[in-house]
Amino acid sequence: MTTPAEEVHTEAAAWFAANWSADLTVREWWRLLADAGWAFPSWPEGFGGRALGKEAARAAVRARHEAGAFGPPNGVATFLVAPTLMHYGTAEQQSRHLPGIVDGTAPWCQLFSEPGAGSDMAGLATRAQRDGDEWVVNGQKVWSSGAQNAAWGILIARTDPDQPKHRGITYFLIDMHQPGVEVRPLREMTGDAAFNEVFFTDARVAEADRLGELGEGWRVAMTTLSHERDPDNAGLGDTPPFAAVDLDQRVGDHAATVMHTADGFSLAMMGQAGPLFDRVVNEHADTTDPVFRQELMKLVSTRRTTQLSARRAAASVKAGGQPGPEVSTLKLQGSSLNRAMREVGLGALGAAGMLEHDDAPIDGLFHRYALFTPASSIAGGSDEVQHNIIGERVLGLPREPGEAEQRELPWSELPRS
Ligand SMILES: Cc1cc2nc3c(=O)[nH]c(=O)nc-3n(C[C@H](O)[C@H](O)[C@H](O)COP(=O)(O)OP(=O)(O)OC[C@H]3O[C@@H](n4cnc5c(N)ncnc54)[C@H](O)[C@@H]3O)c2cc1C
Repeated sequence: MTTPAEEVHTEAAAWFAANWSADLTVREWWRLLADAGWAFPSWPEGFGGRALGKEAARAAVRARHEAGAFGPPNGVATFLVAPTLMHYGTAEQQSRHLPGIVDGTAPWCQLFSEPGAGSDMAGLATRAQRDGDEWVVNGQKVWSSGAQNAAWGILIARTDPDQPKHRGITYFLIDMHQPGVEVRPLREMTGDAAFNEVFFTDARVAEADRLGELGEGWRVAMTTLSHERDPDNAGLGDTPPFAAVDLDQRVGDHAATVMHTADGFSLAMMGQAGPLFDRVVNEHADTTDPVFRQELMKLVSTRRTTQLSARRAAASVKAGGQPGPEVSTLKLQGSSLNRAMREVGLGALGAAGMLEHDDAPIDGLFHRYALFTPASSIAGGSDEVQHNIIGERVLGLPREPGEAEQRELPWSELPRS
């Protein structure tokens, strides 16, 4: 007897055999995938999906890989904006914004962190003030991945400075292509510029693009962040998340270059960390060395437990439910696994581990990933902050000293650095 997942696999395999062609343009291919519901199989019908359960959705993705077909769009739009919109968006907002997300015509960025508000995100100072049917935004964001290529941004801004810091924040969907938005790329130690500073000077957001209730932005942002920390997020794909995509390029030509143009951050987000590590070990390691074998075995078991934890957490999120604070444990496991793969992988390369770019083994791909790994302990909330969340919200330990009082003071009266 065939299982529902096997039936989905058979159906998807037949569809990919009939429809995948490297001669389509990226735009045509992404539209086809979205219309057929194979772009994001667990998402609702009509929004690039078929409302499949996790196991059946995985079977559909397996069928795509077996067919060698290029994946759907990937990035902030698919793994952060879409699930948040599905949860908090009105029907009008969903039908206006989700189609551009599923067919890749509207890339998005996340505008949460500020120079004075990273871990303490609730302390943010960017202001949004009501002006008729619009909001006027002033302030600065930072570390905004992919903002230089984004058409839209998810923005949290302070709408009431006289409320305590968590309560005076509202969540908006902001058009990045307007005169009041200036994006300045930042170069990282990897040599790439995936991050940006974003300055708002009297930028405009329509009231119709407020997501969630007025003053409820913190709650909406927590939903976004729980998806960011969830390694089993259905919107995480295997195509570059932050690149500017030429939608009119032949998809076969685009696919041929993606690995070699992706920065380390993108390689990690495309699920390439494990495969690149495996290539380093298979092609370059001295597996007869007893010390290396010992390190490798420790890593293999860490990788296995990380995968099992992610599967178990995914199974515990009920259909349509939202990931909870327990995803902080998965985030910690992920960053520690990244560090371990960097150390063992560079160790396997020996002296060649010191080379970079094209001089380095496997075209420098593992090096790009290795240089990125420190960032995985910071992005989406640092490791220390994940420990705090687990302590306070999972284990029920007391909050940090002084925090309770600060939570009740109006934001305008809080000391600022
Ligand atoms: C790869 C990457 C991509 C990112 N992309 C985006 C993006 O697209 N959009 C966006 O808005 N942001 C993005 N960020 C920003 C990220 O969310 C912040 O860097 C992160 O929340 C930490 O904030 P911070 O850098 O201001 O550090 P700080 O908050 O200044 O922290 C500095 C240090 O102090 C520690 N610390 C702070 N508070 C506490 C505490 N209460 N207890 C214990 N230790 C504490 C931190 O753990 C850290 O080690 C990205 C970051 C990275 C690395």
